[in-house]
Amino acid sequence: MPASSSPPILPVPCVRLAGDRIYSCAVCRTHTSFHDDVISKAFQGRHGRAYLFNDVALPNVVLGEKEDRLLMSGLHTVRDLRCVKCQTTLGWKYEIAWERSQKYKEGKFILEKALVVCEW
Ligand SMILES: [Zn+2]
Repeated sequence: MPASSSPPILPVPCVRLAGDRIYSCAVCRTHTSFHDDVISKAFQGRHGRAYLFNDVALPNVVLGEKEDRLLMSGLHTVRDLRCVKCQTTLGWKYEIAWERSQKYKEGKFILEKALVVCEW
């Protein structure tokens, strides 16, 4: 197998979510998640209000590297979420919550209100 030094050109595997109420990237309108997956709208992101989601449309939203981040609610291991199309960082995923009281966030996703739009 020949080794290639140039990065592969990735196709953009966007899926269109089917549903009445959908959140999408505010920049390019790629679908990111269902309104039904919102757990809480009372979260704080880097740009103000943020939403906690049970799930996001992972072909459309890609995960970055794991990193430890000290948030207002304590230390968390998180991965940034980027829009696959325009590469905007839309929020993050909670991998590990180190405070016992924050464990319910593990495996959940934050999307910043300022970076997504709700369509219905
Ligand atoms: Zn986008």
